[in-house]
Amino acid sequence: MDKIENFIDGEFLLSSSGQFIDNINPATGQLIGKITNSNSQDIQNAVNAANRALKSWSSLKIVERIAWLNKIADALESKKELIAQTESMDTGKPISLARRVDANRSITNFRFFAEFAAKQNDMQFDMDDAINYVHRKPIGVVGLITPWNLPLYLLTWKIAPALVMGNTIVAKPSELTPLTANLFASILQEIDFPKGVFNIVHGLGPSAGQPILEHPEIKAISFTGGTETGRIVAKTAAPLFKKLSLELGGKNATIILDDADLPTAAKGAAKAGFTNSGQVCLCGSRILVDQSIAAEFTDLLLKEVNSIKLGDPQNEETEMGSVISMQHLEKVESYVELAKQEGGSILTGGKRASLTSQQNADGAFLEPTVIGGLDINSRTATEEIFGPVITLHTFENQEQAIEMTNSTEYGLAGSVWTTDLERGRNFAEKIETGIMWVNTWLHRDLRTPFGGVKNSGVGREGGQWSLSFFSEMTNICVKQD
Ligand code: NDP
Repeated sequence: MDKIENFIDGEFLLSSSGQFIDNINPATGQLIGKITNSNSQDIQNAVNAANRALKSWSSLKIVERIAWLNKIADALESKKELIAQTESMDTGKPISLARRVDANRSITNFRFFAEFAAKQNDMQFDMDDAINYVHRKPIGVVGLITPWNLPLYLLTWKIAPALVMGNTIVAKPSELTPLTANLFASILQEIDFPKGVFNIVHGLGPSAGQPILEHPEIKAISFTGGTETGRIVAKTAAPLFKKLSLELGGKNATIILDDADLPTAAKGAAKAGFTNSGQVCLCGSRILVDQSIAAEFTDLLLKEVNSIKLGDPQNEETEMGSVISMQHLEKVESYVELAKQEGGSILTGGKRASLTSQQNADGAFLEPTVIGGLDINSRTATEEIFGPVITLHTFENQEQAIEMTNSTEYGLAGSVWTTDLERGRNFAEKIETGIMWVNTWLHRDLRTPFGGVKNSGVGREGGQWSLSFFSEMTNICVKQD
């Protein structure tokens, strides 16, 4: 049985707690590892290592750090299949998805920030009698806390810009999905990455995450996770005046306008609803459709949903795997029950999937589920479920569609489907959200701002926003003769 250890100062070590947390493959229910259960002493050790490494790492020229990012990308590339297999086993997601999204994007994150950082010029503002030079510096030791849905992808999305700007890192992945972070650490060891620059502490949020938030020498926190946890993060870190980036939950809408190309929109809506078993923060879990086309669209949507190949994540053909855990499956199922109590009708799905493969008999699989007939303000339609469950609603006109889209506490993403691109863009501008797609979903350019409004988060990541977050600026005003 594998024991997952912390990675501190370039070495793998068990926590002094002597305790372990079980790591389960959610698609089989089998125990696949034991994770060291860290405490504040481990965080202190990681901070000490990160502080010791800071001077030499931050003194490197940016081109030298860029070279390290490319070296990491090359090393990840050489282990791409292993990364995908590991992520699929840890999360229950299909191997094809783990290859296409998780493994690929983890590599791209390093390549992108290496290239993007190389193109940056120092800002300069000339006055009649003086020149202002904006000098960027690292923040110091930064804390990265990440969730289980896209484990290595979201962690590397933070690691790459933090490293290139000269910071050192203490990271805590979700205890549900520690394996690819652990693999990443072993890859760093293999390429002789400088010790102490990147440290991982595994464990539970309250005992291993909270000490990261509270530690006075950790100067910034980049957090991705649920809105309730985000509140704790903000409450703890704000009085310490840490820089904070909060990427939180969502309840995103997919809006089908009356002039949409319906087969394309139905495909897009199904993809937005059920990719990664609906466990992407950007998933469109509410579909709003113009009532004049609702019947035709619903038929097309249900055909798409019923054709999703649910099954063993190891099977190359599988399009949807399990959810992250049995406990999460129960939470998602409780929303299906709630929907019935709230007057909703199950248009498809709603039950645990019975898979033919013996090894998946105890896996956490739910059929892709579409629920109609719910009020847009019902709990099912406003609370984040984060599973393979979407709700379907109709609207009478565009104004009502905008009002319904904006009617949740969240504001992360959304997509609108129309054959009139100008109409789509105007509609998108009226939505209270961080990202809107027109006729597409999850189409990402890493230079663009990524983040949410309302209870979906504070701040933006991506391109220059990530580089700004992971640096401090000093304006140096030099008076000219
Ligand atoms: P959680 O908020 O439960 O956990 C996120 C991370 O925070 C985990 O590593 C968790 O550890 C840790 N944590 C929990 N409590 C504390 C604490 N007191 N102090 C410090 N760290 C803590 O989110 P999930 O892992 O359940 O992820 C799903 C959520 O993430 C969804 O709401 C989803 O919308 C959101 N998300 C947002 C994205 C965005 O970009 N906006 C992208 C992806 C997901 P542990 O696992 O041990 O509890």
